[in-house]
Amino acid sequence: MQHFPDARSVARALAPDEPVILNRPHAAARAARFFVEKFPGKSLYAVKANPSPDLFRILWDNGITHYDVASIAEVRLTRSVLPDATLCFMHPVKSRGAIREAYFEHGVKTFSLDSSEELAKIVEATSDADGNPATDLRLCVRLRVSSEHAALSLASKFGCDLTEAPALLQETRQYADWLGVCFHVGSQAMSPFAYVQALDRTRAAIAEASVVIDMIDVGGGFPSVYPGMEPPPLEDYFTIIHQHFYALPIAYNAELWCEPGRALCAEYSSLVVKVEKRRGEELYINDGAYGALFDAAHVDWKFPVRALEDDLIKPEMDFAFYGPTCDDADYMPGPFSLPEDIQAGDYIEIGMLGAYGAAMKTDFNGFGSAERIIVEDEPMASLYDGSRTRPAADNVVSLR
Ligand SMILES: *Cc1c(COP(=O)(O)O)cnc(C)c1O
Repeated sequence: MQHFPDARSVARALAPDEPVILNRPHAAARAARFFVEKFPGKSLYAVKANPSPDLFRILWDNGITHYDVASIAEVRLTRSVLPDATLCFMHPVKSRGAIREAYFEHGVKTFSLDSSEELAKIVEATSDADGNPATDLRLCVRLRVSSEHAALSLASKFGCDLTEAPALLQETRQYADWLGVCFHVGSQAMSPFAYVQALDRTRAAIAEASVVIDMIDVGGGFPSVYPGMEPPPLEDYFTIIHQHFYALPIAYNAELWCEPGRALCAEYSSLVVKVEKRRGEELYINDGAYGALFDAAHVDWKFPVRALEDDLIKPEMDFAFYGPTCDDADYMPGPFSLPEDIQAGDYIEIGMLGAYGAAMKTDFNGFGSAERIIVEDEPMASLYDGSRTRPAADNVVSLR
């Protein structure tokens, strides 16, 4: 991969006609070390946020040993890059074939589930040829929890209700060598209280089930920083999670896990795009809703932008973007603040696209390709570079 100091030098040297993904290995490494050193338990990387083999190697080299995979393709990919990693199949709905291959061919022992049917599937698919059930299964019952503090909900699709959880925990305990409870508070959880609510629910489920619990997995949802979304320090999340974990009725040696996706890789990548046309306050750029800007189009996510030309001198104004495909829906409302005199042929860097950005690119309409280049400058925002002062007082959590 080519190396450049920053986006400006890429635009100047290459004048690329296609979008370019800029990767910052140092930013991903720093995020990994932060979680490894500060989260009071084990941090799994949720592969779906960005399944790039280069990123896997960076995270591995910086202490991330466990990977949350959700499909057999993610199992195969992660295993092929990291032969010694521990893979955890945390999608609560899987095919028998996927479970079997994961268990027998890739050494996956940890599976999540949210129903009796899924438990039966896992038990059957991991039994030996004589029908004896596996004795080394590590099973996690996924609880449904509120997404009210998160920018993106994950509350409706997966997870068993509090009314079903005790019976499912008891049933799962019979087949599990090691039993955990997991949940996901929704992505980009803007308050640590999201985890407090979820852990309260976990406590209720465990108390009612009265079974031995070996692990609590608080899932992903740890935020990154975007325009208009300045979360409290991650240390506040870790402290509050640890306090509430300690108060749970669980085995004395129970483990605490988390599964960050976004927080580990949002800062890893940005994107250089070219303005192909300007129509008033709308810029037609060469990436969009079917590319790395899926979230900017479909869930109105705000990403930071900057113009990469030196000769743009006018004050900034708000623009919307159109992507390159022929579809009207390929539209990112923004607003994106850029110099008034920006025009066709100019380049823009769009930041914080390492999570759910670079990973979302499709080939629709022939616009899928993008070169990848390593750059050395800082990401457009960072939770880990020591630059952040504590955000607005109403966002700060007071700890006992
Ligand atoms: C998506 C997902 C994650 C990662 O979520 P982030 O919000 O990116 O941290 C973790 N665990 C599960 C089960 C997921 O589906």
